[in-house]
Amino acid sequence: MPRISPVPNLFMIKDRVMQKSTAQVGAEAIVNKLHAEGYDAYFAGGCVRDMLLGRAPEDFDVATSARPQCVLDLFPRTFAVGAHFGVVLVADEIDGGEIVTEVATFRSDGAYSDGRRPDEVRFSDSAEEDVVRRDFTINGMLLDPQVLNETDDLAGAIVDFVGGRADLAAGFVRAIGDSEKRFEEDKLRMLRAVRFAARFGFVIEPVTEAGIRNHAAGIAQVSCERIRDELTRMLTEGHARRAFELLDQVGLLKQVLPEIDRFHGVEQPPQYHPEGDVWIHTLLLLEKLPKGVSQTLAWGALLHDVGKPATFERAPDRIRFNGHVEVGVRIAAEICRRLRFSNEDTAQILSLVENHMRFGDVERMKESTLKRFFRLPRFPEHLELHRIDCLSSHGDLTLHDYAGQRYQAIPEEAVKPKLLVTGKDLIAAGYKPGPEFKQMLTLAEDAQLEGHIQTKEQGLSLLLRRFHGAKGANSND
Ligand code: ATP
Ligand code: MG
Repeated sequence: MPRISPVPNLFMIKDRVMQKSTAQVGAEAIVNKLHAEGYDAYFAGGCVRDMLLGRAPEDFDVATSARPQCVLDLFPRTFAVGAHFGVVLVADEIDGGEIVTEVATFRSDGAYSDGRRPDEVRFSDSAEEDVVRRDFTINGMLLDPQVLNETDDLAGAIVDFVGGRADLAAGFVRAIGDSEKRFEEDKLRMLRAVRFAARFGFVIEPVTEAGIRNHAAGIAQVSCERIRDELTRMLTEGHARRAFELLDQVGLLKQVLPEIDRFHGVEQPPQYHPEGDVWIHTLLLLEKLPKGVSQTLAWGALLHDVGKPATFERAPDRIRFNGHVEVGVRIAAEICRRLRFSNEDTAQILSLVENHMRFGDVERMKESTLKRFFRLPRFPEHLELHRIDCLSSHGDLTLHDYAGQRYQAIPEEAVKPKLLVTGKDLIAAGYKPGPEFKQMLTLAEDAQLEGHIQTKEQGLSLLLRRFHGAKGANSND
């Protein structure tokens, strides 16, 4: 694709020289070409916000007065993904890598009748019209990259119809226009407000917050998958505690995760949990989830004690939560089903809930039990959940450190060695397949894991001593 004008690779932000990402270079080339063809075109939305914050944007979206068909005709490699909403993906090769940029035609949205998406959109020549249909002022700014290149003045290159710069500087997430109307239109924006406020450490501006509070119950109009994805992003962006405090504060938590809302005021025995109730304990775990943490570990941390409210009991000696693990697994399974997690993610999340109390026994476990424990898929997630669970309560890491050292020390082939005795060996030795086979194989494997047997013969003679009755009448023994 011939370049309209060369795109410099460096630019300035707040006196800092920044290296352009290939994504920025790609988006800039698109803007240049659209300008050369006589259209209005800008960087729009999140990327402008991030540049002003001095953060490297993940992707660069372009907004333009060119109609989708025109964008499709102008660029050689395009995909009309959201043609209905005027979105065209433009692909280009930059520095040997493929860059895909979202190019959206300026538009205004028609009525919203499903609480999520406009029934129809109207393409527009006005950048301002396009901005006022966006969600928050901090997401409503445009930037002309040509002006930025020519002047190196970021502020001068910004087009701000909505007061986004002031809100960005003050740390406000504020709905564009009438908040009541904006949340009435699209209920997903409520979760987005929380996510952006948590991510940037911003406050949700009070009128905007009131709008969310008034529409919180309407979040049910958003698909469970979208709700799950927003919550997962909140849990894995490094500010999960703040996000969940905000969800609670604006009244969304009891709508999307009533099971977690029940954590409030559920007292715990102070000798094990000096920090306070189950809600506080869970917030302390969320606080320890770093940016980029796996989603299964994050959800496991959120849900590990989900069985506590239902099993709370003031026993004579102390507060107890008998059976909270089993009950917790059932509740977590229901949540994973409702939020449509994949089977694989569900299995791992439930496994984290199910096994989180087993570290209590880790020093007393037989070798064979310990090795089987270490076989849990993605065991380091179990270990990490236990670590942050301890740090969020009594702070004692003795059992964690013991488990971690043993896990490191035992080689994988010792955790799951090639079996010395197999079903085939039992048949060859004259045993008849039957219900006892499984027990026999488990016994042989345990003995192997304990280091009591080193060979198949030793295994078979052990079984002969313990299970001689299992040989059938037609055995040739
Ligand atoms: P992120 O860094 O999380 O990607 P973003 O601001 O880029 O944040 P996107 O979901 O990628 O968010 O959306 C791009 C832009 O589209 C937003 O900045 C905003 O201007 C607009 N937008 C996205 N979703 C909505 C919505 N539900 N309602 C109104 N405008 C929206
Ligand atoms: Mg984005």
